Amino acid sequence: MNYDVVVVGAGPAGAIAAKYAALNGAKTLLIEEHASIGSPVQCTGLISTKALRECDIGEGNFVLSKIRGAFVYAPGGEEACIRGKDIKAYVIDRKIFDRALVELAVDNGVDILMKTRFIGMYDGKISVISNGENKEISGEIIIGADGIQSSVGRAAGLPRCEKFLSGIQFEAPYIPKDPEYVDIFIGNEIAPGFFGWAVPFSGMARIGLARNPGLPARYYLEKLLNHPIVASRYKGSRTEHVVGGIPLGPPRKTVSKNVMLTGDAAGQVKPTSGGGIYMGAICAKIAGEVAARASRKECTLSEYEKKWRSAIGRELEIGMRIHKSIGKLSDENLNEFITFLNKPEIRELITEHGDMDHPSVLLQKLMKTGNKWQLIKFMGVAFKTLF
Ligand SMILES: Cc1cc2nc3c(=O)[nH]c(=O)nc-3n(C[C@H](O)[C@H](O)[C@H](O)COP(=O)(O)OP(=O)(O)OC[C@H]3O[C@@H](n4cnc5c(N)ncnc54)[C@H](O)[C@@H]3O)c2cc1C
Repeated sequence: MNYDVVVVGAGPAGAIAAKYAALNGAKTLLIEEHASIGSPVQCTGLISTKALRECDIGEGNFVLSKIRGAFVYAPGGEEACIRGKDIKAYVIDRKIFDRALVELAVDNGVDILMKTRFIGMYDGKISVISNGENKEISGEIIIGADGIQSSVGRAAGLPRCEKFLSGIQFEAPYIPKDPEYVDIFIGNEIAPGFFGWAVPFSGMARIGLARNPGLPARYYLEKLLNHPIVASRYKGSRTEHVVGGIPLGPPRKTVSKNVMLTGDAAGQVKPTSGGGIYMGAICAKIAGEVAARASRKECTLSEYEKKWRSAIGRELEIGMRIHKSIGKLSDENLNEFITFLNKPEIRELITEHGDMDHPSVLLQKLMKTGNKWQLIKFMGVAFKTLF
């Protein structure tokens, strides 16, 4: 088995990278360790309309519901409504979505091997266990799109991401205040370092939280379920349990010799929301295109590193600063922050410029208003230097 490009991992980033490698003339193989695509699911499945476009896919049968905004609940109970002018996001079925992306890759000429696990590499060859047998595959370029644990990244000696959040979630019947709005819960009692959520679809919701690593999942999940808002909307029973990590802060380096990393493997995840599909799609396209050209010796892999950092590096850096600043706020400060968001002029700006994929756009606008110093109080003085 000789290929120009071998992509490890058939999640969204792998499927898109493989498709772009094939579209750019490379003989491409996509390998996936599981027997079926998109399983097990480790995702809430909330993606922006922009992310769907970035994945080159229209609204398919994977769309379960449409989302216009969010109700954010402060620890003290105050509610801020983040309202979009129109539909901002979709709740999707990740299994169907991931399969649709892989089908697009295969339609564009990518070969695929399921039940094939990458276990190591040497001299331009990768070792896999395919359907229980040890095999070798030759690939000029290897793309590690193998998620948060990235065996490819480890085998290539690439550094790890800055931080890993722990996520937990399940699905349950839920009666939301408005089915076009997600509920977000902030506070150190519920989700230290991040937030809890209830994302509604078809009379159900994906209810969960992400938190700083090392904190007990069950304890915080019970706290979330006992939150008065959740308790009044959650109608009991739990299915589709998810436990998974979210990588934040990309490693210093994402390429080495003939290896490149993309998606979660490269920490290409929004630090403000934990969403990885949008950023992963942007970078996977670049990875596939550069890999194809590099396999013909038309460029080096460092071009990928430069291009993806210039596309989303600043947004990730600003996102990471926001993540760290908000993570340090006491519950009292978080209450003040929600009161700040409820000011009429701030709400107007959010409706006009709020973008779940690019929070820096809204922040830049906010920094130009008379509220600049209040914002700096929440985000820290160092934040001023970013704008
Ligand atoms: C609780 C939770 C909620 C989330 N909610 C959202 C959300 O609402 N919106 C959003 O955008 N993002 C969300 N995310 C993040 C999102 O799930 C990831 O960013 C996204 O799946 C990353 O895509 P990927 O293709 O890089 O990796 P993955 O989707 O993880 O795919 C990696 C693939 O590689 C395969 N693989 C791994 N190792 C090997 C190996 N050695 N050999 C072969 N194959 C291998 C895996 O089986 C898998 O199929 C959430 C994450 C968590 C944990």
